[in-house]
Amino acid sequence: MRMLKHNLGYPRMGAQRQLKKACESYWQGRIGRSELFVTAKRLQEEHWQLQQAAGMDLIPCNDFSFYDQVLDATLLFGAVPDRYAPVVTDVAENAEIDLYFAMARGYQQRGLDITAMEMTKWFDTNYHYIVPEFKKDQQFRLLSNKVFNAFDAAKHTLGVTPKPVLIGPVSYLLLGKEKETGFRRIELLKNLLPVYISALQKLQEQGAVWVQLDEPFLAMDLSEAEKEAYRHAYAEIAKRCKGLKLMLAIYFEGLQDNAALAANLPVCCLHIDLVRAPLQLDELLPLLPPKTSLSLGVVDGRNIWKNDYELSLKYIRKAVEVLGEDRVMIAPSCSLLHTPADLSLETELDDEMRSWMAFAKQKLEEVNALNEIFQGNNSPLELNRQAIAARAASDRIHKPAVKARTAGITEKDAQRESAFPHRQQLQSARFNLPLFPTTTIGSFPQTDDIRQLRAQWRKGQVTNEQYESALEQATEKTIRLQEELGLDVLVHGEFERNDMVEYFGEMLEGFAFTKNGWVQSYGSRCVKPPVIYGDVSRPADMTLRWTKFAQSCTKRPMKAMLTGPVTILQWSFVRNDQPRSLTTDQIALAIRDEAVALENAGIGIIQIDEPAIREGLPLRKADRDAYLQWAVRSFRVAASGVRDDTQVHTHMCYSEFNDIIAHIAAMDADVITIETSRSQMELLEAFADFKYPNEIGPGVYDIHSPRVPGVEEMVRLLEKAAELLPLRNLWVNPDCGLKTRKWPETRAALENMVLAARAAREKI
Ligand code: GLN
Ligand code: ZN
Repeated sequence: MRMLKHNLGYPRMGAQRQLKKACESYWQGRIGRSELFVTAKRLQEEHWQLQQAAGMDLIPCNDFSFYDQVLDATLLFGAVPDRYAPVVTDVAENAEIDLYFAMARGYQQRGLDITAMEMTKWFDTNYHYIVPEFKKDQQFRLLSNKVFNAFDAAKHTLGVTPKPVLIGPVSYLLLGKEKETGFRRIELLKNLLPVYISALQKLQEQGAVWVQLDEPFLAMDLSEAEKEAYRHAYAEIAKRCKGLKLMLAIYFEGLQDNAALAANLPVCCLHIDLVRAPLQLDELLPLLPPKTSLSLGVVDGRNIWKNDYELSLKYIRKAVEVLGEDRVMIAPSCSLLHTPADLSLETELDDEMRSWMAFAKQKLEEVNALNEIFQGNNSPLELNRQAIAARAASDRIHKPAVKARTAGITEKDAQRESAFPHRQQLQSARFNLPLFPTTTIGSFPQTDDIRQLRAQWRKGQVTNEQYESALEQATEKTIRLQEELGLDVLVHGEFERNDMVEYFGEMLEGFAFTKNGWVQSYGSRCVKPPVIYGDVSRPADMTLRWTKFAQSCTKRPMKAMLTGPVTILQWSFVRNDQPRSLTTDQIALAIRDEAVALENAGIGIIQIDEPAIREGLPLRKADRDAYLQWAVRSFRVAASGVRDDTQVHTHMCYSEFNDIIAHIAAMDADVITIETSRSQMELLEAFADFKYPNEIGPGVYDIHSPRVPGVEEMVRLLEKAAELLPLRNLWVNPDCGLKTRKWPETRAALENMVLAARAAREKI
């Protein structure tokens, strides 16, 4: 038999983001349930047909989801948290979808007010899944028919048997969270397994041949109990679902120490990610038992670059040599959920740039072409060779001066002139701030009129002069407000920025932007990451115009706002032809030059935001130190071009620092602002235990809701902070930027915050 080509999952949104629009219309009551279902059906059919046309032998179904595939599994296995019981009786008959959306988004209707389930990042992607909630005596039952209906629908549309996709039982449990003490969620396997098996049996009765079970945890660090859970789960499934062909899909990392475990599970096929972890092929091949097949994830499901056929073929040939063609399959490395839909819609990218890329639709064509070449038709190979070689040699990508400068970065470049105590003295003499100085994180409410104006300006409907003068007005008004409120260190409000990464990307060399390159982030939300395609440099000043204008409006210190190199990297599609650390260093040099230019223009305080440092942490613990080393060094390269009396701030809007505190301290920012209000300053303890030496602004109020915090509660938080850290090091600020808030609550909250700082100065 010939090698099979297959896909693990297709983007759900539709190339025009049809699903987003349909869901949001449904939530707003503008369309009914049947209209929502029609859109969903049409999208799925279109995607099935498209995959069939691209030559896929096994086409996934149930990869489609109205919100999230983990939430789908939670509903399938009936793990609905108790608090949604009233929803079930509240919503109309046959309204599984409303219960589902209630779990995803919360339910505030007819006198009920039920919170949504928690959401968190899907491994190291920017996709967020809904976290299953487990009780000690958690029971499961088959509740939803979605997967069974999807199977029938796909079979009907395709005329061939589709491959249903489910999250594997072990990964499903590990993705969840214990909501009670006294048990570990992996122990729930005994309750889940019978239900899980009955779902598989039902699919088998419907005629399913292959079923794909996603088990990405097989590529993570596993405890003994978790490994045992894998052995037990798949032994049971094999026993009870004889004849069903199971494919375990493992992606985002290599199997490493779990290779033997995975190889010996009684399944028909393992899918591995050879883009992320190519070396695992050699480790795994000798371990595979005689009947197990291997699916090679050779086409990158996480990025937008054209596949290098020559390289992929090397892996394919190696695998076929050992296993024989009938035991090898080829596929993208992971679900295509993480790539944009269709490159052919990018009519504004020039031909050369387009010739370097492939989006979801094109990636399947690549899988097909790889098979063609393998079978002896060499015609796609030559074109691909040319495209790969052209990209490798393009002078749009390679800037010798940038490469030379990056290679020449020294340890000295990554260090401020003097150590923090000396800098603190100089800065305190220069700025003469009171104890508990007040500031904000940068952005102020970005109201619809500003967004609309920007949209009109981009379309050329508004002149540069009109646009800039409106921005100046908004900036000046915000500065006056901050003066009135009595804030000590002001910001300009970031009105000229659409997004903190895109804004810089648009001004840096080496970045490209797509028109339709949307990727699902959570639910109906999509992001459109910039593409870093070449060596990064800064042809001109980026933020000086607005920062200088802002400083000219006030005598108080104006804090300039830059986005840090790691965050710019993390929130973009990055080049795959050099290490991420190198790209980050290039960005760092550009940000460093901008900081120096700001300093030369008389700006004394500069904030370099790095909210994404933590999310860049590698999935395997053993790799984390190396990542943090280069990430922190890149930040320091960006921050260390300025004089000792220039105060560098950084900001991180999350809360877990325990395991990385030493690295955070090594960033050596003069001031760090972090999110703490929701944890009641608890997470400051990590800083206290570490004896964090530099200045720190623990957020005193949560900006994620319109609620206006009282003065007293903020004073109390400051008292707590003062117990943990030296007084002279403490700042007062909100948790994060105010971009998504409205003006009235912003004004009221900051007014109270300044009062709280004043009270703290007297009291503490
Ligand atoms: N300066 C940015 C702002 O205020 C920081 C946002 C962030 O860290 N997420 O919006
Ligand atoms: Zn933030």
